[in-house]
Amino acid sequence: MVTKNLEVPKRALAIGAHPDDIEFGAGATLAKWADHGCEVSMLICTDGSKGTWDPNIDKGELIAKRKSEQILAAAELKATGKVAFLGEVDGELEISENLRKRLTLLMRNLRPNVVLTHDPWKMYRLHPDHRKVGYLVLDAIVAARDPLFFPEQEVAPHRPDELLLFEAELEDHFEQCEGYENNKLNALLCHQSQLESTMRIGPESIDADTATFKSNELSKLDRSHVGEEFSLAEGYKRLSEL
Ligand SMILES: [Zn+2]
Repeated sequence: MVTKNLEVPKRALAIGAHPDDIEFGAGATLAKWADHGCEVSMLICTDGSKGTWDPNIDKGELIAKRKSEQILAAAELKATGKVAFLGEVDGELEISENLRKRLTLLMRNLRPNVVLTHDPWKMYRLHPDHRKVGYLVLDAIVAARDPLFFPEQEVAPHRPDELLLFEAELEDHFEQCEGYENNKLNALLCHQSQLESTMRIGPESIDADTATFKSNELSKLDRSHVGEEFSLAEGYKRLSEL
């Protein structure tokens, strides 16, 4: 069954492997919800320290830059919740009891109605962090809702109402986002350190490449097969029985 446009949640938590993943996957949806009063929080699981083509870059500077870019991107989406960083090493995140525990605590504290993250079942996905973060979030949702997991946390259990998986293998839920596409594009462009490596915007042809990037991203939003009002929309796999 295909569903469209959730009721705007009170609180949403988007979890991405790297700075910029959330904006690619759900930026326009989050901007729309934030505009309608939702408290949008973000968690970035890795430090983004491999997100460059420059082998001589200072790693500490890159990590700090990517953090600050993420905070600017959250502001571009008008997100009013928390922007949190787990700080795992980029490309080396492992599903562990310790990470599950930290994610569980965050979910129990923030109490999101909707959680958004990577679809771990996306076929032929290359990047290990995207797969592993997807699985980790599923594991943390089970732990956050059941009181016998990590009782030492002394925080009430929390069960989100909905989980939306972005960059999904099978999309069955759509969020119309007309009017919020520019928030998404501008938030993506906050990730200045990623212009060349991720967005293919080169220093010699910034204007032309930026225009191409924007038009490519806009065309990726086209879900007009769902309905003409969904020509600018983001698609997800929706899990409601959590
Ligand atoms: Zn990523």
